[in-house]
Amino acid sequence: MELAKQVELEKEAMLKTLSEALKIKSVQGPAEPGKPFGEGPARCLEYMLNVCRDLGFKTKNVDNYMGWAEIGEGDEMVAILGHLDVVPEGKGWEKDPYGGEIDDKNIYGRGALDDKGPTIAALYGMKAIKDLGLPLKRRIRILFGTNEETGSLDMAHYMETGGEVPVCGFTPDGEYPLINGEKGILESDYTKHFTQQGDLKLVHLHGGTAYNVVPSLAEAEFTCPAAMAEKLVARYDGKNGMTVEATDGGVKVTTHGKEAHGAHPELGENAIGKLMIGLKDWPLSPELKETIAFVADHIGMDPYGVGMGIALEDKVSGKLSFNLGIAEGDSTQLTLKLNYRYPVTKSYDDCAPVLTENFKKAGFELTAENHKRALFVDEKTPYIQTLLDVYHELTGLEGGAMSIGGGTYAKSIPNIVAFGPIFPGDTVREHLPNEFWEIEIFMKNAKIYAEAMYRLAK
Ligand SMILES: [Zn+2]
Repeated sequence: MELAKQVELEKEAMLKTLSEALKIKSVQGPAEPGKPFGEGPARCLEYMLNVCRDLGFKTKNVDNYMGWAEIGEGDEMVAILGHLDVVPEGKGWEKDPYGGEIDDKNIYGRGALDDKGPTIAALYGMKAIKDLGLPLKRRIRILFGTNEETGSLDMAHYMETGGEVPVCGFTPDGEYPLINGEKGILESDYTKHFTQQGDLKLVHLHGGTAYNVVPSLAEAEFTCPAAMAEKLVARYDGKNGMTVEATDGGVKVTTHGKEAHGAHPELGENAIGKLMIGLKDWPLSPELKETIAFVADHIGMDPYGVGMGIALEDKVSGKLSFNLGIAEGDSTQLTLKLNYRYPVTKSYDDCAPVLTENFKKAGFELTAENHKRALFVDEKTPYIQTLLDVYHELTGLEGGAMSIGGGTYAKSIPNIVAFGPIFPGDTVREHLPNEFWEIEIFMKNAKIYAEAMYRLAK
């Protein structure tokens, strides 16, 4: 409890540092020489490293990709991974998003909660450990990333340039109690080319807005003679959830679904799948008909990848999730953009090659792929137990480690898990207008982080 008292003494300095950091608009901008993510992130990094130097920490700026500050001695290092970049403020603010305003309860601004506030809470936890002269067996290093929101190239650069790998640590960029499992995420494009003959021809097909969102709208446009259009409208309008209307020179088909986050496609209703199912028995040209039927039968509105042969599952994190997020087609090709997430104890090799092979059988080629590996640290691992002990002791709350379908910053370097800063039941404010953080919770986090760092490093 000595540490908590020491942290309390830093309250004014913490608020001042956070307020100043919030005044720097650290949204990614165009790259400049020596500033890979633009002016704002580099300026915020320089500001934080200056604060650390004033506190007497050892610092390093790694090419304006990221920087770090360190205390203590020892061969091994415990890391805290925070980020200084922010997403754009967006519309709908009642306060200045870059004003750093503080009142008697809260501190306001883009980044207050994600992730400048939590990063600065950890920083002053380090200061309290240093000021008390507590003995450490390991060094404590705080890593300041500047590209978490737009690709995590910051930490990739740290790793590529020989940055030291921590023996353990945490990122204050998730939620409590602790996230020890994150599904692996793949975003993959599959494309098929086809030819069309006959009177009814596809000219345009489109559905969805993003890989990781269940599409709520899909549409397809065909050319055909007016008499045929009339027949198609009569036969299919209102069937299988399709709206079919005659257009100038053909027909247009529209389907509606229900939007949901791509990590939980079972909560939505896939408009593209609905469109494919609806079009399946249309009198289409043979190659296109085969293509549509394949997507309808093997993907359809299935959120688990059953029909594509990759319905993996484990005890810790449940089922693989499968979302057909975007479809883009024209008169000669169809591209499907998928977001699928495999269980935490499985790997890329357990699903991606199988999916590609099954698509290949139907004439689709893999045209783009982006993979973020799964993360899983057994709950019995000593450092996980230490973090959970600190959380239980300092908050009086219960709860164990969790697995999630989303990905956190923890994936960007080894031996890190997400620990805080959001408490169970807190409202979501990250990335929304009017982001703020309660000063009381800011201080509470600093105390938890101070104790956690000390126990991991002592
Ligand atoms: Zn964040």
